[in-house]
Amino acid sequence: MASARILIVEDNPINLKLVRDVLTISGYEVVAAPSGEEGVTLAQSCAPDLVLMDIQLPGIDGYEALRMIRQSPHLDSVPVVAVTAFAMPEDRERASGAGFDGYLSKPLSVRSLPSQIQDYLSVGRTDVR
Ligand code: MN
Repeated sequence: MASARILIVEDNPINLKLVRDVLTISGYEVVAAPSGEEGVTLAQSCAPDLVLMDIQLPGIDGYEALRMIRQSPHLDSVPVVAVTAFAMPEDRERASGAGFDGYLSKPLSVRSLPSQIQDYLSVGRTDVR
């Protein structure tokens, strides 16, 4: 699934460039939004195969953006993975409880990221209830 389209929602341009470069080199098509609002709009228009969602964003945060994405019927099956600098176990639990399909903590590993993305694409939605 190396041609999969990945939507990155990330307000930090340095983090965004890093993730975009790694995933582009790995053969993924990358689209990006710098805020939750724009991320939701882009998710609705670009039909991503996976969303990487920063939690701390200007305006609505990653939790609210996820909620809005989940309200779009045609996005119901798209896995959304939380990305956050918080690395405490309760944050992982909160992300899982909020309906994220996975959780990556910053700093992201350039070496591991492509296989992590591949795994999330293979597994798909985990939060279907
Ligand atoms: Mn952020």
